[in-house]
Parts: sequence; structure tokens; C-alpha cells
Amino acid sequence: MAKAKHWIEPHPQGIYVRPAEVWIDPSVSKENAVVTHGHADHARGGHGDVWATPETLAIMGLRYGTEAGTPIAYGEGFERGGVRFSLHSAGHVLGSAQVLMEYQGERVVVTGDYKRRPDPTCAPFELVPCDIFITEATFGLPVFQHPPIAGEIAKIFARLEAEPDSSILIGAYALGKAQRVIAELRRAGWDKPIYLHGAQVRMCELYEELGVSLGELRLVMDTPKDEMRGQIIIAPPSALTDKWSRRLPNPVTAMASGWMRVRGRARQRGVEIPLVISDHADWDELTETIRELAPKETWITHGSEDGLLRWCELHQIRARALAMVGREEGDDG
Ligand SMILES: [Zn+2]
Ligand SMILES: [Zn+2]
Repeated sequence: MAKAKHWIEPHPQGIYVRPAEVWIDPSVSKENAVVTHGHADHARGGHGDVWATPETLAIMGLRYGTEAGTPIAYGEGFERGGVRFSLHSAGHVLGSAQVLMEYQGERVVVTGDYKRRPDPTCAPFELVPCDIFITEATFGLPVFQHPPIAGEIAKIFARLEAEPDSSILIGAYALGKAQRVIAELRRAGWDKPIYLHGAQVRMCELYEELGVSLGELRLVMDTPKDEMRGQIIIAPPSALTDKWSRRLPNPVTAMASGWMRVRGRARQRGVEIPLVISDHADWDELTETIRELAPKETWITHGSEDGLLRWCELHQIRARALAMVGREEGDDG
């Protein structure tokens, strides 16, 4: 296990890098913070100095009104207290980064959230060799296998063909998932307007500003009901069962999330078309990444720690689960 006085200290509120006096993804406001990506369980407002990718800073600006910070592009970094920090693509959402820290000859990587599947809305995951790999484990159980995304997108088209008078209402988290679903619909050839719930607009606009093309987007509020027959609507998951959806013609409810792998969850939310589309590594990606990196130690931040911990033990990989708070599973699955 890790030495008692390691230079990296996991705390319930985040990972503290002692020689640099810097926190990674702290869940409460801190003087110095490196932020891996814009999701609320990693990015909080109110820090003093922030280091993050330009895209993450822009997303934090949109969410918290605090765009101040030092932008660090992928592959670049800074030095503080003898620790060399650099950011590397995590493939999770636009701007998401892993943090590599080098100190006295030791290399430590913190993944934040990551995935290894291709995603047209963000840069691909980079495998960064390290001695200590500090990983997420949102889907750290063998049951979680994310299918290829093309098959999930095809379910939407099949339903529209069968029911041309209906509309398909897709619940998708506003940062990352919504834009990825839209981009995948475009890639599959859907060139009609896609209709948005008001809560999805600003992040989609920011993605466009940052160079991710999403095609023609229209606001549901501005559209006559009949015009949306046979069309696709994207809304936050919370709006699926909301009375808001009454303005849609015969809505068929879909939901894009890795949690849709669990049938009970889909049923619970009244989802007719569960779309197993996740922005996190699935079980195979988690375990293959550890295998490929072959780090001396693996530390697990959040998710199903026990499953991954057990796997590491079985494969004689030194591992420990960190008790992180404020990283409850969210709709960003
Ligand atoms: Zn995330
Ligand atoms: Zn997370």
C-alpha cells in the first residue's frame, strides 16, 4: 500500500498534492485547484487559482460565471513546488483531461472521468505511462459493457420508421452526452433539425463556439407541436416525466446513459428506449487500461470501487480505494 507520507494525499474532498499545495477536483472551494473537466462532481466554483484546459475553463465560465484561470492545452503544463503538472486528453467530454504529475522521479496520473470509445465531440483518450494510476470506476463491475454506439442510435431510427407520427424524446445530460448524441445522429445521416429543451441550448452553443458542429438545432418552445412529428428532441433526463413533454406529439421516451444497461433503471424512469451510451469507461476499458499501463499501484477514486479492487487483487496489482465524497453517480453516466 502507499507509504503513509506520500506526496499525493487522497482526502474525502479531493486529491491534495502536498509539495505544490494544489488540489485536484476538490469538492469544496480551495486556493489552488486543477480541474479535470466541467461536470459538477469535479468542477466547483469559487476556487482561487484554477488550472484547466481552455474548454473546461469556458464550461466553468458558463456554469459558475468564473472563467478566470490558467488555460493549459493538452500536452502542456506547469511547475509548482517541484512538481511538474501536465494535462492529457481523457476522452470523456469536451476539454476533459487527465493530470500527470512528475515529482522526484515518480509519475502519477489522475484520470478524472475517462472513456476510450471514439467520440466526435472530444479528443481521444491518451494512454499516459505512470507509476501510480488514480482511476475512476463508475462502471467498475463486469456487468457494465457498453455496446457500440451505432446500434443504439439505430434504435431511434427504427422507432421513427415504425411510428412516423410520434416524436422521440431523448433524455441526455446537458454537458457532453447531449452533444455526443446529436453528433452521432448527424454521423448516422440525420440531417433534419434537432429540437432542444431550453436547458440544453447554452451548452450546445458553447460546443459550437469551441468548434464542435452540431447541425441545425431548434428550440421546442418556438416550434408548433405538429412540426415535431417524426422528429428527435433532446432534453435533460429530469424533463422526461415533466409536464413539459406534453407539448410534444406522441413522445416516445428514450434515455442515453451507461446506467440503461440495468433494465430496472430504465423501467423506473419510464424509459421506453434505453440507449446504453456512456461517457465513462466500461468494465473492459477499465481493466484493459490498467493492464496496458501496468502501474506499480492503482488507486480508485469513485464509482464501484469494490469490483475493480477485487479484480486488481485477483491480478496481483496493488490497489486501494480512496473514500471520495461528493462524487455520487449522476446523470452524466
Ligand atoms: Zn464526468
Ligand atoms: Zn465523475
